[in-house]
Amino acid sequence: MTGLYQYHPMPHQLALACPQCAGQADFEFLVAVSIERKADVPWFQAHPLLEYWRPQDSCGHYRHYALYYPGLHGDPLQSLGQLPEGYRAEQWRQPRHGYRQHSLDHGSVSCPHCDYQARHALNWPTEAYYGVPYRGQLLWAYHRESALALHDYLLSTRRDPGGYPWQHFLRHIPSPFKSRKAREPLTRLLKRLLNRA
Ligand SMILES: [Zn+2]
Repeated sequence: MTGLYQYHPMPHQLALACPQCAGQADFEFLVAVSIERKADVPWFQAHPLLEYWRPQDSCGHYRHYALYYPGLHGDPLQSLGQLPEGYRAEQWRQPRHGYRQHSLDHGSVSCPHCDYQARHALNWPTEAYYGVPYRGQLLWAYHRESALALHDYLLSTRRDPGGYPWQHFLRHIPSPFKSRKAREPLTRLLKRLLNRA
């Protein structure tokens, strides 16, 4: 597949084709919280639900992070327990309608159809559930809500993104998908995915 396009920010929840059953599965980005004191690193390394991550910045300094997968372990206020001084469980919480706060393409997948649940390295938009091929390019939407908006937008004659949710996303749809010829096949394929899920 050529001509993949991508832009930021990404919502923290996406609809993926399940790696196991190809049904609609939920992807959720991990949450990365900076570990401020190096002395706290061993505590975070030992925590059963947190993952320690040590990237190097452009100056060669190491940064320390504690990664959490809300898609696997739920509300951190319930699951993390007592934290070292200076940290609050809320820091690992994902806002309900938020965007990814980091550049990591990692998170978790859980599938309501086959119960598949695992950590997952995101391959976007190749594995988007709402992905529709057209003339060598892939038209995609983040999730059901943006796919509905995309379907209605493509079907409309005015093509004004202003009246829809996810208008920032709609404003970035590449022009080949917005041609008159593309309208029928694309809206039909999107509708099929929307009806199936
Ligand atoms: Zn599945």
